[in-house]
Amino acid sequence: MDLYEYQAKDLFAAHGVPVLPGRTVETADDAAAAAAELGTAVVVKAQVKTGGRGKAGGVKLAQDPDEAREKADAILGLDIKGHTVHRVLVTTASDIVEEYYFSFLLDRSNRTFLAMASAEGGMEIEQLAVERPDALARVAIDPIAGVDRAMAADIVARAKFPAVIADQAADVIVKLWQTFVAEDATLVEVNPLVRDPQDKIIALDGKVTLDENAGFRHPEHAALVDERTENPLEAKAKAKNLNYVKLDGGQVGIIGNGAGLVMSTLDVVAYAGERHGGVKPANFLDIGGGASAQVMADGLDVILGDPDVHSVFVNVFGGITACDAVATGIVEALQILGDSASKPLVVRLDGNNVIEGRRILDEANHPLVTQVDTMDNAADKAAELAAASSQGA
Ligand code: GDP
Ligand code: MN
Repeated sequence: MDLYEYQAKDLFAAHGVPVLPGRTVETADDAAAAAAELGTAVVVKAQVKTGGRGKAGGVKLAQDPDEAREKADAILGLDIKGHTVHRVLVTTASDIVEEYYFSFLLDRSNRTFLAMASAEGGMEIEQLAVERPDALARVAIDPIAGVDRAMAADIVARAKFPAVIADQAADVIVKLWQTFVAEDATLVEVNPLVRDPQDKIIALDGKVTLDENAGFRHPEHAALVDERTENPLEAKAKAKNLNYVKLDGGQVGIIGNGAGLVMSTLDVVAYAGERHGGVKPANFLDIGGGASAQVMADGLDVILGDPDVHSVFVNVFGGITACDAVATGIVEALQILGDSASKPLVVRLDGNNVIEGRRILDEANHPLVTQVDTMDNAADKAAELAAASSQGA
């Protein structure tokens, strides 16, 4: 989960990383009030989960409360790379002598953590990495040893941070590592980390990605979720503990058991869809091992609630949970859903107890359900039905 800048900086502050005071507000009048309360020149900053806000007109300096109102009015409602600005951070402005770059991240390809630091901050890191690779220090971090003062001093030296702020920078880096570990983050980025005219180091911007797999260790992180930007179908699936991901531009809803089977189902449907006008899978949904009627009903409920979906492909390979149990689950799920189940279902069952499973579905003879015996043919049928329905609609 990506955090907003203001949330990232709240975490920084909690771990002793220097940031400037600020308040998030949702109206221009509240921005003026926040500026008055701070009693300083302020920067009004769009709170959206994307970078490059400055260039997009989402970061503006204001000398007084009236100007803060004006700037907030201009920023609220802006569209920045597809993200609508609902909130701005009003924060004390700082004079900047120099801008630096710093981040810790999970380096998946090298199976370790990585520190990246540069005395040339401000510009986007991707651009810096391409244009001035020598200016960007990359230091692998041993996850067991972590980052102590000596390690931090080494990073500072390799990044060529100026001597006047070297000690402070090392101190901040140790605290950022503590933030990274304590919060179970996969990214902690400060761009820019600035030096002010008093030679003080301040984190002016912050980006943090939290590892949702560690969510169980952080009940307090639940408060950081912004329902407004969550996909409503994903939120519903999460509430029901389903492994669901919405995919853009698809028409065939997918339900399967086991992540590997579902992944290959996506491929097979995308491939079959090419024969039917470019129909694509609309989601990933793994109902896992125990395909009970309730789980099946929950899954179908989420998928059928997706207005993009025109047909559903239920692809199950019976294992410990045998096909007869899955078939019963489908029949009962359709009973639970009643009239809200209104789109054609293509069901392919195979594996443990398949004969009995197919018999149960045949006997139920539900008007929306078509059984197809092989995965390829079932994918083709689901794509065909989706194409027919979206042309009719
Ligand atoms: P981003 O464009 O989304 O990365 O947003 P940032 O928070 O990094 O802001 C963009 C740029 O605005 C920074 O690199 C700074 O140059 C400038 N900026 C941000 N806050 C301040 C501030 O308090 N004072 C001054 N003078 N410039 C600021
Ligand atoms: Mn930035």
